[in-house]
Amino acid sequence: MLKKLVDRIFRRPRGPQRIVAAEHGIDRRNVSRHAIKVCEVLQQHGHEAYIVGGAVRDLIAGVEPKDFDVATSATPEQIQPLFRRARIIGKRFRLVHVVFGAEIIETSTFRAPSGGEQSTDEHGRILRDNVFGTALEDAVRRDFTLNALYYDPTTEEVIDYHHGVADLKRRLVRIIGDPVVRYREDPVRMLRAVRFAAKLNGQIEEKTLAPIASMAPLIENVPASRLFDEMLKLLTCGHAMDCLRQLRAQGLHHGMLPMLDVVLEQPGGERFIELALERTDARVRAGKSISPSFLFAALLWQQVHLRWQHIQAGGEHSIPALSLAVDSVLGEQTEKLAIQRRFVADMRDIWFMQPRFERRVGKLAWRMIEQPRFRAACDFLQLRAAAGEVDSVLAQWWMDLADANDEDRADMIEDATHAPPAAATPDAPARRRRRRRKP
Ligand code: ATP
Ligand code: MG
Repeated sequence: MLKKLVDRIFRRPRGPQRIVAAEHGIDRRNVSRHAIKVCEVLQQHGHEAYIVGGAVRDLIAGVEPKDFDVATSATPEQIQPLFRRARIIGKRFRLVHVVFGAEIIETSTFRAPSGGEQSTDEHGRILRDNVFGTALEDAVRRDFTLNALYYDPTTEEVIDYHHGVADLKRRLVRIIGDPVVRYREDPVRMLRAVRFAAKLNGQIEEKTLAPIASMAPLIENVPASRLFDEMLKLLTCGHAMDCLRQLRAQGLHHGMLPMLDVVLEQPGGERFIELALERTDARVRAGKSISPSFLFAALLWQQVHLRWQHIQAGGEHSIPALSLAVDSVLGEQTEKLAIQRRFVADMRDIWFMQPRFERRVGKLAWRMIEQPRFRAACDFLQLRAAAGEVDSVLAQWWMDLADANDEDRADMIEDATHAPPAAATPDAPARRRRRRRKP
């Protein structure tokens, strides 16, 4: 009896934990000064204001945050007039972009979980999420404990409602609340769990993981454009291959990249994707930019390549065969994943330049250089060479050409025009046979 009382008083956390700097380890110098400024101004006007979400998570984990978001008790109408350059955006859920030169601090009012039945679709997916609330309510509607941390730059404390700091230190991705309910509300949370676990080199907590495999088909109800955004985040988080493996293990890829299974099971398919993603991860970790078109061109290439060879074997010429192959692969793929049109155009450019790389002669080479996607297509050729699909001497020649000045280029092209044809490509017999037949 007494023990129970003691337990109740001492064990059950009353209100949030307030974690001091020595414990959470965030160095204020790593925090965006603009985000600090936004918090300070709001606090000076009597509002609560914290840096929230991914930035706090990443700072504690020792990863450089992508951007800084602020959550506050102030409404958009109260926030906007406090800053020189601030605009209210969003129709249903309104938030404020506070602009400082190139940096935008997304500042949103605490939100409450929406309880009403009208705001979900027939699968229980939340369609609206626009009721203002308290910090406590705001923390409950967030997805994972490690994403529900509130950093107050003034006191340098982290307000932690769900033991997120402890989970973060153990690199455990734990959902807030009942996982089945939370995934039903928003199936994208399953993908986010995978991404954060990969990004933090951690794991998905047991109960959080358990329902994913059986609930994976709910991904099919998510709008294609949102899936595309999430897929892009997965692929550019710096741990893309881990993410893909885990997606596949959980059956989550069916709604994302329906062809992933086929691709990975093809001879050489896994190797090609691995090479592409290794390069992407290396670029991300070095802080370099990533081209989504290049990435998707690489992910779908094995499929395109296979069909291209197949159609050529049926008697079609190289270029029209490639065109047919590309159309059929893109047609199937974009049913699920809305790859944005501008990316699709670039992917086509990258793919259609590939057969042209096999001829290094005069005018043609000059025309290649002028193509807007020449550089990306060259990189793609390198990737194919690394995968043993084309001759690496040929790939290097084009790379050198891309790096050279016009004078050197003229020499290189001149030499190549008189040199014997490129060395045989190791594993493209169908294509070579067809090319030889041409007059
Ligand atoms: P990153 O920006 O690195 O992708 P993030 O955690 O900042 O990660 P955002 O999509 O920017 O992700 O979201 C910001 C915050 O909003 C998250 O940290 C989380 O607290 C909350 N949030 C985002 N998406 C969801 C969701 N689907 N369900 C619940 N909360 C979410
Ligand atoms: Mg973010």
